[in-house]
Amino acid sequence: MRITAIETIRQPDRPAYLWLQVHTDQGLIGLGEAQRGIEAVDAILHGPVAAALLGDDPLDVERHNQRLLGGYLGFNASSAETRAAGAVDLALWDLLGQALGQPVSRLLGGAVRDRIPTYNTCAGDGYNRQQDRRVVRPGGPVPADMDDQAWFMHAADELAGSLLDDGFGGMKIWPFDPWAIDTGGTYASAAAIRAGLEPFERVRRVHGAAMELLVELHSLWSVPAAQRICAALEPLDPLWVEDPVRRMDDAAAVAAVARATRIPLAGGETLASRPLFRDLLTRDALGTIIVDLGWCGGLSEARRIAVLADSWSRPVAPHDCSGPVCFAASVHLAMHAPNAAFQECVRAFLRGWYRDTVTDLPSVAGGFVHALPGPGLGTRLLPGFIDRPGAIVRRTTLETLK
Ligand SMILES: [Mg+2]
Repeated sequence: MRITAIETIRQPDRPAYLWLQVHTDQGLIGLGEAQRGIEAVDAILHGPVAAALLGDDPLDVERHNQRLLGGYLGFNASSAETRAAGAVDLALWDLLGQALGQPVSRLLGGAVRDRIPTYNTCAGDGYNRQQDRRVVRPGGPVPADMDDQAWFMHAADELAGSLLDDGFGGMKIWPFDPWAIDTGGTYASAAAIRAGLEPFERVRRVHGAAMELLVELHSLWSVPAAQRICAALEPLDPLWVEDPVRRMDDAAAVAAVARATRIPLAGGETLASRPLFRDLLTRDALGTIIVDLGWCGGLSEARRIAVLADSWSRPVAPHDCSGPVCFAASVHLAMHAPNAAFQECVRAFLRGWYRDTVTDLPSVAGGFVHALPGPGLGTRLLPGFIDRPGAIVRRTTLETLK
């Protein structure tokens, strides 16, 4: 089999996203995806990546992943190059599965479970639509476009009731973000802490231990600010505090927060390359390792990171909020990795734009996610997706390669 074309698709209503289709001379098409900085990712895919891949056999997934992540192609970084390599890696695993007629979880060596616990990340359907995230501030009128994010800022106990009705036993929210944005993350005031605690307290007061609380800090805070937030959260017994500090690649900073609190930390979705995870693990900085399959450089690299975490007896919890193709791939990894503890999901995306993008989605029910059974990743872009008005489609072949 040979790679004949690299094709990217961008849609005007999701400008933070890109889809990659790797075409072959046997008619099989591998599907990948990238998020954030995608103009740069697009340029990398049609330049150095196309030059490296076109005419080559796509089924040596490991060789391509090593080549695209290292040296002067990937620069061993958390970067647009890495996200391009991640999109390619997802597409090549998809091709390998289609060529062999097996789901990706089986190609990894088989599944150790048939479902994985999930929790809901309380974003709305429009979250991450642009390159910047939506911020909802407390107080003020309840917005007309009430979604899970606005709901947790205004009535987190009601949102928790709705999630419990949907079978979710865990919810992740980020009520401290507005103050981090106001101060550059340097100062968590007593007033900010009081306001940020309020949604968590409402859930505990109404629902007791029925709902696990997950605290998202979005890599926004300095070490002392994160320490103060964690200290205030301790009586509420959250499952974890995620990405507490601005520099999650600074293992010393993350470890300083970890040493100061009883709450286990989780994090890593913005990081790529194993040495950064090794440093965090060596310093006992993280309880749960979070990895984004696209951002870290692909399913291949995420698997290596999961094995590394297992060597420190740490669970992994693949990231979502990234796109439906990445989500499908993440669930395959979560079926295979013995130390996978949770698979993140966003119910608003699963009901909304994910459904408007791909043919099949992993099923989420009763607080668990099931992997797609079909060959490869098990999903395709919806018919007509590529022809939607305003779609930006680029295609590079050996003939058009500059
Ligand atoms: Mg996160």
